[in-house]
Amino acid sequence: MADLTTKKRIAIFGSTGSIGTQALDVIRANPALFEVEILTAQTNDDLLIKQALEFHPNAVVIGDESRYHKVKDALAKTLTKVFAGEQALEEVADFDSYDMMLAAIVGFAGLKPTMKAVSKRKAVALANKETLVVAGDLVMQKAIENRVPIIPVDSEHSAIFQCLVGESRNRIEKIILTASGGPFLGKKPNYLVNVKRDHALQHPNWAMGAKISIDSATLMNKGLEMIEAKWLFNLHPNQIQVVVHPQSIVHSLVQFEDGSIKAQMGLPDMKLPIQYAMAFPQRIKNDFLRLDFRKYPSLTFEEPDVKTFRNLALATEALHKGGNMPCILNAANEIAVWAFLRNRVGFLDMTAMVEKTMEKIPFIEKPGMQEYFDSDGEARNFAASLINL
Ligand code: NAD
Ligand code: MG
Repeated sequence: MADLTTKKRIAIFGSTGSIGTQALDVIRANPALFEVEILTAQTNDDLLIKQALEFHPNAVVIGDESRYHKVKDALAKTLTKVFAGEQALEEVADFDSYDMMLAAIVGFAGLKPTMKAVSKRKAVALANKETLVVAGDLVMQKAIENRVPIIPVDSEHSAIFQCLVGESRNRIEKIILTASGGPFLGKKPNYLVNVKRDHALQHPNWAMGAKISIDSATLMNKGLEMIEAKWLFNLHPNQIQVVVHPQSIVHSLVQFEDGSIKAQMGLPDMKLPIQYAMAFPQRIKNDFLRLDFRKYPSLTFEEPDVKTFRNLALATEALHKGGNMPCILNAANEIAVWAFLRNRVGFLDMTAMVEKTMEKIPFIEKPGMQEYFDSDGEARNFAASLINL
């Protein structure tokens, strides 16, 4: 781990997204601690150009190749190298010149560059939960083999990670992941059947990218987070519990073998876990809003309604089943969310698509990386064939 007397050189994969832009806010506020080495974006060329002109990275990647010349021309007078296309993500992840990757691409697309960073022995601040959902065994195995720290950015996992500091000799009895419940907490299927995109995108406590906002509304996000937690903290599925906590103040909890429970709390603001992961093991002073307990006279906890929000039950099933089942679940869900965001399927259809895909795609108990890619492709094709049925 680089110490903070020298600047840590950060590669932000997915710099134009919700996590990426907040990470740049953290870097902007701490120029003595961090510098930007690499930035990548899929389509938002204008923002990528603006970020590059402000932060002077060594390299940028624009995923959509048709935008290459625009970015190249805009940065022609700078020292920033410009690359384009999916393959370029892996090429820049292979650079020696950065210390830490912030993996903030959304979805399965984040897996290859993150795996490359781990293979290069680079520290990873991991926001891209889908990487661990799909291939957590292979990613964690490589990280352990290469002694690479994978520090979670997801707020629940950051909470658990923070609770575990100083506890390396103590066994975890269970972890408790908190869920806000999303915008449709308390609603039933007869309501959800008519829910539309714009309503589902309105999260009560967090402003996030479109995909994770829909995942939060369906509770798939919490299911993905259970699988993410299994790999990050080396847990048995039975050690992972979900409770609904609508205020999003307790970010998650760890219960140790003596029954003692530690929680990490704060206002819902992703900048805190982003900053914590980038600066670990240091904590950085900042001016983020502070939690005032007097304004939260009641913090409440309840059982999730898995009969209504069946995605959480499906993800729990995939968690227990293991093998390529979480990969299949994730791929079907990515297609389902994509289709819902384009008003091609209804809210409850998303669950049906995931369930049917999990039944259809052949189960593999111990997949290798190629088999994960094959399962992902097959599951996507099958899920796509269900649209408009
Ligand atoms: P977002 O949609 O706002 O941003 C995604 C970023 O990835 C953008 O920079 C985009 O250009 C890039 N991208 C999208 N598709 C790509 C592709 N196919 N190839 C390469 N790059 C691509 O998403 P976000 O909300 O910032 O979330 C990013 C990741 O962090 C997700 O995995 C999400 O689950 C996780 N996460 C987000 C939050 C949050 O508050 N936003 C919280 C916890 C975890
Ligand atoms: Mg989370």
